[in-house]
Amino acid sequence: MAQLKWGLIGASNIASGHMIAAMRATGGSVNTVLSSDAARGIAYADENDIPHSTTDLDHLLARDDVNAVYISTTNEKHKDQALAAIAAGKHVLCEKPLAMTVADAVAMVRAAQAAGVTFATNHHLRNAGTHLAMREAVQAGRVGEVQAVRVFHAVYLPEHLQGWRLDNPAAGGGVIPDIVVHDADTVRFHLGEDPESVVAQDSVAGLGKGVEDSVMSAWQMPSGALVQTHEGFTIRYAGSGFEIHGSEGSIIARNVMTQQPIGTVVLRSASGEEAISYSDHNLYERALTRFAEAVSGNGAPAATGVDGVKSLAVAAAVKEAATTGTRVTVDYGGI
Ligand code: NDP
Repeated sequence: MAQLKWGLIGASNIASGHMIAAMRATGGSVNTVLSSDAARGIAYADENDIPHSTTDLDHLLARDDVNAVYISTTNEKHKDQALAAIAAGKHVLCEKPLAMTVADAVAMVRAAQAAGVTFATNHHLRNAGTHLAMREAVQAGRVGEVQAVRVFHAVYLPEHLQGWRLDNPAAGGGVIPDIVVHDADTVRFHLGEDPESVVAQDSVAGLGKGVEDSVMSAWQMPSGALVQTHEGFTIRYAGSGFEIHGSEGSIIARNVMTQQPIGTVVLRSASGEEAISYSDHNLYERALTRFAEAVSGNGAPAATGVDGVKSLAVAAAVKEAATTGTRVTVDYGGI
């Protein structure tokens, strides 16, 4: 497996809370961090045991001890930073949503393809033992023909994250770019198809200051299956869930739309209820292992750039449907 020497683009919570430890646990080193603020960068490097920090992206990309970058800045910065990293020949793991528009995300994927570098989207849920077990059950025909999916992903946004997500649409704030993308990717992972069209309603339910903090939507899949989703930043006690309903059975999963390797998965059918067991490995470590393998030429990342384009396209359609009050055909940008 490739030895990854990481440069962090963004002194973010997700990097310090999950990714740095996962990079080290999977054999990588974290060698420098980019922040727009020199003092914050120095403090972040110090707190996270990173030997260098910089405010200059070109300086980070010129370093010999960086062969891969992890982009976790606010969403409006992802595109230009990714294109610069790709031009410098670095492998790129980019946070979701990949960009502010589908066209920009497509440009990022095409640039990485042309440069021959590995490009991935950090959709962590594909790496959860719960979702892997659910997908295996669906592929084994245990629910029969899938008729409907229900996604429950309305949570309470932790106080330390109540910044740009609530008040800054220019930075990509709002629950739709933040959470609908994950749900779109997870549905794509389980069903192997993407919605043709969506309808939606959103609202500013309490925390939001200028952007939506709550949304419900319904998606029409090419197979005829329907998908219903609820995403929110203001719901304290619901817990999350994912249900797949088919002609022969239903999978009922609870507390599985999370960063932790937790939750319950039950298959309900004519035979009764059966608990589905799953591996409780770290989600981000699995994503990073798949990324390093892909860099070595062995397989694809868990979520590719194309996966990131598809999930962004669904989120963009949900936003347009909620704003216009119409059914919107999803535009995948030709990819
Ligand atoms: P943060 O708000 O922690 O960080 C985003 C940017 O905000 C940083 O790049 C940093 O800028 C700036 N920043 C951070 N802390 C401070 C501070 N105390 N004062 C001033 N500025 C600060 O974002 P998240 O970690 O929550 O999200 C980053 C990205 O990761 C987003 O794209 C998000 O969608 C994604 N994400 C993905 C998750 C997943 O599981 N896949 C989970 C959570 C987030 P600078 O770098 O210039 O210092």
